[in-house]
Amino acid sequence: CGIVGYIGKRDAQSILVEGLKKLEYRGYDSAGIAMYTEDGLRVKKAKGRLAVLESQLDGAPLVGNVGIGHTRWATHGKPSDANSHPHTDMTHKFSVVHNGIIENYTELKEDLIASGVKFVSETDTEVISHLVAREYDGDIVKAVQKAIQHLRGAYALGVLTEYEPDRLVAVRNASPLIIGIGEGEHFIGSDIPAILEHTRNVFILNDGEMAVLTKDTVELMTIEGNFISREMIHVDWDA
Ligand code: GLU
Repeated sequence: CGIVGYIGKRDAQSILVEGLKKLEYRGYDSAGIAMYTEDGLRVKKAKGRLAVLESQLDGAPLVGNVGIGHTRWATHGKPSDANSHPHTDMTHKFSVVHNGIIENYTELKEDLIASGVKFVSETDTEVISHLVAREYDGDIVKAVQKAIQHLRGAYALGVLTEYEPDRLVAVRNASPLIIGIGEGEHFIGSDIPAILEHTRNVFILNDGEMAVLTKDTVELMTIEGNFISREMIHVDWDA
């Protein structure tokens, strides 16, 4: 139901958790984050209020400067720890947060299972993490572009891979997503309040568009990979 993402130099965990709090008004049944840490890509997620996730993080914080976070409003699969986002592939090298619904996930899941993939959740979303892993050939942007060609439905996505910890990929198709521009840091969010504490400069993605974020750069392109330019919006209201 809500997405937030960060790539920069600051403590990503607190930025993600605070961002998710700003998205609580949208409603949710579980929450989670994935971060690039010195042990690689790590995920913490839990059914229930954000406080449940926070108490787990209090005991064992994730330390790093790149991450994605999610509040889930279950559409496919009951609220549970396993069905919470982020979702990963079998190697745990790829991590995906998703808002929306993948209409053809049953067919995709059957194909993936036939090719040996083991699923750990009941969500429609999990097919995306396995598809990205299957398509990966050294370039996460190309892998995401190829993976989403298989998808029908509505999706806003945030994608991370341990292989390219300096890049965060975001996609919008019929679910809202914005990009926040900072200095030496960038953000993604389902809406402006999620990141307004950190920046007032944003790009609004349109359907069929994606963004590739590093801490210093943002590239906007169509999901076919054609670069686009977009006027930056300065937000002058307060949440
Ligand atoms: N369809 C996905 C799920 O049920 C995402 C739901 C959402 O947008 O929160 O896990």
